[in-house]
Amino acid sequence: MTELPKAYDFHDYEEKIYRDWESKGYFKPWNDPNKLGFDPTIQPFVIVMPPPNITGALHLGHALFVAMEDLIIRYHRMKGEPTLWVPGTDHAGIATQLQVEKQLAKEGLTKADLGREAFEQRVWQWKEQYGSQITQQIRQLGASCDWERERFTLDPGLSRAVREAFVRLYEKGLIYRGPRMINWSPGLMTAVSDLEVEYSEEPGTLYYFKYMLADGSGKYIPVATTRPETILGDTAVAVHPDDPRYQKLVGKQVVVPIIGRAIPVIADDYVEREFGTGALKITPGHDPHDYEIGQRHNLALINILNKDATLNENAGPYAGLDRFEARKKLWEDMRAQGLVIKEEPYMLNVPRSMRGGEIIEPLVSTQWFVKMDSLAQKAKAAVEAGEIIFVPERFTKIFYNWMDNIQDWCISRQLWWGHRIPVWYCQDCGETIVARETPTQCPKCGSDRLAQDPDVLDTWFSSGLWPFSVFGWPDETSDYKYFYPTSVMETGYDIIFFWVARMIMDALEFTGKAPFHTVYLHGIIRDENGEKMSKTKGNVIDPLELMDAMGTDALRFTLLVGSTPGNDMNVS
Ligand SMILES: [Zn+2]
Repeated sequence: MTELPKAYDFHDYEEKIYRDWESKGYFKPWNDPNKLGFDPTIQPFVIVMPPPNITGALHLGHALFVAMEDLIIRYHRMKGEPTLWVPGTDHAGIATQLQVEKQLAKEGLTKADLGREAFEQRVWQWKEQYGSQITQQIRQLGASCDWERERFTLDPGLSRAVREAFVRLYEKGLIYRGPRMINWSPGLMTAVSDLEVEYSEEPGTLYYFKYMLADGSGKYIPVATTRPETILGDTAVAVHPDDPRYQKLVGKQVVVPIIGRAIPVIADDYVEREFGTGALKITPGHDPHDYEIGQRHNLALINILNKDATLNENAGPYAGLDRFEARKKLWEDMRAQGLVIKEEPYMLNVPRSMRGGEIIEPLVSTQWFVKMDSLAQKAKAAVEAGEIIFVPERFTKIFYNWMDNIQDWCISRQLWWGHRIPVWYCQDCGETIVARETPTQCPKCGSDRLAQDPDVLDTWFSSGLWPFSVFGWPDETSDYKYFYPTSVMETGYDIIFFWVARMIMDALEFTGKAPFHTVYLHGIIRDENGEKMSKTKGNVIDPLELMDAMGTDALRFTLLVGSTPGNDMNVS
């Protein structure tokens, strides 16, 4: 006879019990549309898991959502409802591509050395090798999801959903391609959306200088800028129409320092007379406000930057220099010519890339966009009508506010890993073909020389379809008919705009239904000082270590009792 151990050791049980439950099908809904005896009249309870990135290493945020969703799921399962929790992972465009590029760098290779196809294969290999780590760890957390229904955002089925969504929006005129002011990440060498830019207050300098009149009178207009290098792309100087200081100069020409290009002085009531010198340099190519002024006044648009943020040929003698070197050099040269007035310390609102941290450059580039207005208004109306509620309730107002001020969404990314844009260009007649199936012939001229758009879609484009694409949409599968719409969306409040809002907009547009009736938002887990956990700060608590030391139940219990909806939680 074996002796009964004196203390409970979770190491002996957790994994064994989980395996036992999973193998016996306890995590599957008892009422299943694909099985005999299915009763379609019984209302199921459904959650789709926020798909972790395949690059992800388990962190406390994962542990929190798993504990929370598992709690909700088990509660409904115990109430006897047919309960389904759909797991899956996200291909995470930029994040994954960077991982594989890093791996290649160790072999002395770049993605260009491999070429697109071989690189994509390499990423798939990487996914096979590492992509399931995160789902293994989620099992370790005890997540009682239906692993037979696991999905990946680049699965063939989900890829078909992405194409369907793109083509439908295009056919409705809600997707367009055009040159627009976008956020350019020189580090990642791709466009990023407004949401991927973080603004940080940083001390900087306001540079005052002279815009000399072109008439040789020696008179000048004083102008200030925080980014002198953009002077090289100026196409006007704007003053307020009622400003007595400058009124008589409107219509005259001034000269761009160093490169000597003549540009007009224009009047626009966007200019604040009290701010700075009351005169604004206008760089439509590199500032969103100036871009709009440029549109109003039909100004030329000059791009001075290469993709890596060095200056291009439009920058004259500064071509080839890095943007910050060029700033210094140009300012020195202007000083030598007597064009500098003064410098002043100034608090800047610097746009930085959420991922790389480098300074984002606003520039005009031809990209694909989704028109968001009508989608957003539908989403707002659904929430107003009570079809979707937010927990905690205070996020409703934040949601409305964003829906009312929404901007068009830049969805193209200059990456290789992701859903390739389903658009082909005829190399003979220039026809643009947007299609669900890869075309072999140009419908206009019959040519077979078709080139697909090289860009891929923003990762969040496919994430937005997640609540219904996991069930086989656009096909009306039995799973789709029974399990969709889902019940609760549980996720962090930090991705309410990235993800929750887009799921709501997409679902209403494509399925005509709200994707879930309740959005439960949890807070962010911070360290003991309330700081966000990050590898660089070294304050990350590894849930795997905690689980190994104290057991999964202890960790889950701690996270659940310590958190309230929508509020951050400090853990030490
Ligand atoms: Zn053609």
